[in-house]
Amino acid sequence: MLNIKSFTFSPVQENTYLLYNEEKDCCIIDPGCYFPKERDELKTGIEKTGLKPVLLLNTHCHLDHVFGNKFVHDTWGLTLHIHEKEKSLLDFAPMSGEMWQLPFDNYEGPIVYLKEGNSIKIGQDELKILFTPGHSPGSVSFYYEPGGFIIGGDVLFQGSIGRTDLPGASFEVLENSIRTQFYTLPDETVVYSGHGPETTIGEEKSNNPFVKF
Ligand SMILES: [Zn+2]
Ligand SMILES: [Zn+2]
Repeated sequence: MLNIKSFTFSPVQENTYLLYNEEKDCCIIDPGCYFPKERDELKTGIEKTGLKPVLLLNTHCHLDHVFGNKFVHDTWGLTLHIHEKEKSLLDFAPMSGEMWQLPFDNYEGPIVYLKEGNSIKIGQDELKILFTPGHSPGSVSFYYEPGGFIIGGDVLFQGSIGRTDLPGASFEVLENSIRTQFYTLPDETVVYSGHGPETTIGEEKSNNPFVKF
């Protein structure tokens, strides 16, 4: 069974998630740690609890989700896993860092591409890879069915949805992802978003003003 722990990092207030099993194998999703102090916090949080990082995933490659990729790679030797359609965003992230006055060193190690419909394993536990574009062209969400939760990146927030005014984004595509990939999950499924508090599928189906069920 996977447990979850979250951190909120950077001036953009991005949520970084750790998923870990009983053996303390740990997956790091969207390490948004920007400042040295935040990187220490992540490292200490992992070391204190005896977790062993084994997997690095990005839901998508906007700068706030990739700030810490290089740090995670340098510290624990992990290879980045993303959807192929996010590669150009990853390459562009340092430039957008300059634009936002948040310069950073990008990840430059090897990349493993995630395929929608496949699963990825942390020990015996499986995360289903759902293709959920719209906010970005190759956004993926990680659904852990036995635990009843999904790590959704910037697709669906409590009372809101991901921005669609960015290059490569589309409201129609995002709406379709939410309807077909999120609103079809059990109502009690907890959604852990890239920003803000967690929510549930049922709550968003009833209350979300942007994509009504
Ligand atoms: Zn984003
Ligand atoms: Zn974000």
